Amino acid sequence: MPPANRRRVPRIGFASLGCPKALVDSERILTTLRAEGYEISATYEQADLVVVNTCGFIDAAVDESLETIGEALQRNGRVIVTGCLGARPERILERHPRVLKVTGPQTHAEVIGAIHEHLPPQHDPFLDLVPPQGVRLTPRHYAYLKISEGCNNSCSFCIIPALRGRLSSRRIDEVLGEAERLAAAGVKEILVISQDTSAYGADIRYAFGSWRDNQYRTRFIDLARALGTLGIWIRFHYVYPYPHVDEVIALMAERRVLPYLDIPFQHASPAVLKRMRRPAHAQDVLARIRAWRQQCPDLTLRSTFIVGFPGETEAEFEALLEWLDEAQLDRVGCFKYSPVEGAAANDMADHVPPEVQEERYTRFMERAARISARRLQRRIGQRLRVLVDSADEHGAVARSEADAPEIDGVVRIQGGTGLRAGEWADVEITASDVYDLHARLAGGTAREASGHRATKRA
Ligand code: SF4
Repeated sequence: MPPANRRRVPRIGFASLGCPKALVDSERILTTLRAEGYEISATYEQADLVVVNTCGFIDAAVDESLETIGEALQRNGRVIVTGCLGARPERILERHPRVLKVTGPQTHAEVIGAIHEHLPPQHDPFLDLVPPQGVRLTPRHYAYLKISEGCNNSCSFCIIPALRGRLSSRRIDEVLGEAERLAAAGVKEILVISQDTSAYGADIRYAFGSWRDNQYRTRFIDLARALGTLGIWIRFHYVYPYPHVDEVIALMAERRVLPYLDIPFQHASPAVLKRMRRPAHAQDVLARIRAWRQQCPDLTLRSTFIVGFPGETEAEFEALLEWLDEAQLDRVGCFKYSPVEGAAANDMADHVPPEVQEERYTRFMERAARISARRLQRRIGQRLRVLVDSADEHGAVARSEADAPEIDGVVRIQGGTGLRAGEWADVEITASDVYDLHARLAGGTAREASGHRATKRA
C-alpha cells in the first residue's frame, strides 16, 4: 500500500503505432517516464494525459494515426503526439487542433519536455526504480535493438529520409552495452533493426568503441562479431546486399549469429529498380544468393516486394516472378504500391490501375506461397531447437531460427502444453503447410540452453 500522504502518481496513457523502429522509440520514452516516477495507465480514461506515437509511412497508417489521436482526445482530452506523422504537424492540427503538442520522430527530449510541461513529474524513490534494461513492449524473451536512425538512400516511393533524416548511427559501444543488458535481463533473441543495417556506422566513419576489453568499429561486421559472443539468438533485419555482407555470412555459417537475412529487395526488374531508385542489380544479387547458400546452406532469406509500381509493365512483372523462382526465397511479403504524400514516385507516369495491381499481387503471392510450401516441406523429419512464444491447453507456438516474430511463420508444437513462453524446446518436425511447421517434442525442453550455437540439425 502506498503511504497515505503520498501525492497521486501522474499517469500516462500510451498508444504506439507503426514499425519496430517506432516501437523502440516508444520503449525509450516509457523507460524515461517510469524512471521519473510516472505510472503507465492501461486505459486512456484513467490517464492524466495520453501520448500517441504515430506512423506516417503510407496513407493507411496516416489514417490510423489520426483516428487513434481522435479516440485519445475523445476518451481523455489531453494528448501529446510524436513519431513519424509528427513531422507533418499541419496534417494533425487541421484535424485535431486540440492536441497539446506535436513533435516529430526521434524527438525523445522534446516529448519528455512536453510531458513535463503538461504533467510535471513527481520524484519519489519508490517510483524512480526502473529495470536496468528499460521498459520493453515486446514479450520478455525477445527485444528489438535499434542501431541507427534515418537513411542516406532516396528510394522514390519512400519519405522516411524526409521524416527521419539522414543516417545517424549509434556508437557501437553504446549498442553493445544495451545488448548486454538485454541478455542479462533474460532476453533470448535480439532483433537488430534500422533503415539500412548494412550502412551502419558510415556516417560516423566507422568510429572505434571498446566493449569487454576489445576494440570494435561501428560497422555491420564488427557488430555481428561482438553480438555473436552473447550466446543468444541475433537476427538481422533490413540488410542491403552490399559486398561486405558476405563477411557476415561466414559468421552465420558458424552459428555465431542466426543464419537469417531480411533484405528488402522490392523488385527484380532492372528498369523498375531504376525507377524506384534502388541501388541493387537483380542479376548480381542472384549470384550472391547462390554463393551465400553454398557457404551457409541453412540460410533463411526473407524479403519484401512492391507490385504495381508506376509504369510496371506485364513483362517487368513477369521478370519479377521469374526472378522469384530462381531466388527461391524462404519468406516473402508483398505490398501493392500506394502513393505516399511527398514521395517522388507520385509524379511518375503510368500508374497501374488498382484491378491490375490486385491481380499481380494475387499471382505474386501464389508463386511465393508455392515456394514457401516446398521449402518448408524439406524440414519434415528434422530436429530443431525452437524458442517458445506462447503455450496453452492446446499446445505451444514457437519459432525456429528461420522465423522472425510477427512477420514469419511459426512452429506449432503438439503436446507442448507444459512449455512456457521464453523457453527453448527441442522438437522434431512432423508436418508443414504453406507458412508454418508442425512438430512434436523431441527429448523435452532445454531450459538451461545457452543459445543457438547449441543447435544441431539431424
Ligand atoms: S532504403 Fe529506401 S525504402 Fe528504405 S528507408 Fe531508405 S529511402 Fe526508404
